Amino acid sequence: MTNSARFDRGHTDDLMSFLAASPSPYHAVANAAERLEKAGFRQVAETDEWDGRSGGRYVLRGGAIIAWYVPEGAGPATPFHIIGAHTDSPNLRVKPIPDTGTRGWRQIAVEIYGGTLLNTWLDRDLGLSGRITLADGSSRLVHVDRALLRVPQLAVHLDRSVNSEGLKLDKQRHMTPIWGLGEVAEGDLMAFVAEEAGVPAEDIKGWDLMVHSVEPPAYLGRDRELVAGPRMDNLLSVHAGTAALAAAATSGAPLTAIPVLAAFDHEENGSQSDTGADGPLLGTVLERSVFARGGTYEDRARAFAGTVCLSSDTGHAVHPNYSDRHEPGHHPMPNGGPILKVNVNQRYATDGTGRAVFAAACERAGVPWQSFVSHNSMPCGTTIGPITAARHGIRTVDIGVAILSMHSARELCGAEDPYLLAHALTAFLES
Ligand code: ZN
Repeated sequence: MTNSARFDRGHTDDLMSFLAASPSPYHAVANAAERLEKAGFRQVAETDEWDGRSGGRYVLRGGAIIAWYVPEGAGPATPFHIIGAHTDSPNLRVKPIPDTGTRGWRQIAVEIYGGTLLNTWLDRDLGLSGRITLADGSSRLVHVDRALLRVPQLAVHLDRSVNSEGLKLDKQRHMTPIWGLGEVAEGDLMAFVAEEAGVPAEDIKGWDLMVHSVEPPAYLGRDRELVAGPRMDNLLSVHAGTAALAAAATSGAPLTAIPVLAAFDHEENGSQSDTGADGPLLGTVLERSVFARGGTYEDRARAFAGTVCLSSDTGHAVHPNYSDRHEPGHHPMPNGGPILKVNVNQRYATDGTGRAVFAAACERAGVPWQSFVSHNSMPCGTTIGPITAARHGIRTVDIGVAILSMHSARELCGAEDPYLLAHALTAFLES
């Protein structure tokens, strides 16, 4: 690999810890906040009055975090350099009346979240995580990281055509995890969760719980040049963005724009929520930051007009067994550096001017980059980039990292790419 000389495995080691510690969006934003706190950032409440002083701040709302660093000397019309990402991943989420089962099996009723690759959840050891809301209105994180649940696949003897005709899974009938034997009892799961959280069961008034694979991330390949792990789409970008913002805030480099990290929830189902990219959260935070520095609506308009967002999300690396599904002239490879995503029908927001911004950041960082575009007869995915561009009128560039097995319970990426992405993002924030 051409980048081996510069490659720092420490960044990827840290990403692997971040992935393992972030089974839910709520954990992801808490872990991002913890890293930013170490870089001097402080949380501000949306319900408080904000001041315009310099320094690092962040807002947490559910599974979303917006963090920004106001450099010394920033004026009310100073533009923003934003890194966009999302914290959620496709998975199985606990239904409102979770305790179910049949024929002596205890099971948990789940709803499918996002575009889950269902088969990848079969026969895995699954844990449980998320948040519970208590009687006093406060929330608490829950993380049961042991083999607790399993969605058992039907034996081949009872599904003779599965290998010739393909596996057919019904979301309602076939994806219900088992979690033990015995009588189904109402309130059983919440009693267990209360015990794990150390609170009385009657104190739990609400929950947002989901399941995750308990297998930790691992290096893979002859030379350990790949990483296998969960939720790289898109915690890989959240982690890189957090590292880049912390670096920009602490490096002492002169900043002509205000660096921002915006990591949203609910990308996997369309972003329309109060914590999603299609909600007002980012715009409200940026506006309040302008007004807190004494700005007028004119200053806000000038700041937004000069703002650029690099929206980072995973894309598809060329699959060696299905290379016909990919555009033959564009073949992003793991460890080839971050990808620039283009779709002229605005599934991605990148245009030629955005390409120039991204290429310049990569050049300053000494990072190689690659182009991604879809095969014309394949559907193209989308992400928060076009939503951010349309909702806030902010110039946006879609970028990311090429992975395999997107939306699987265990995805695969190059071990060097997270590091290369973080460096390109830092150069962008510091430009
Ligand atoms: Zn994604």
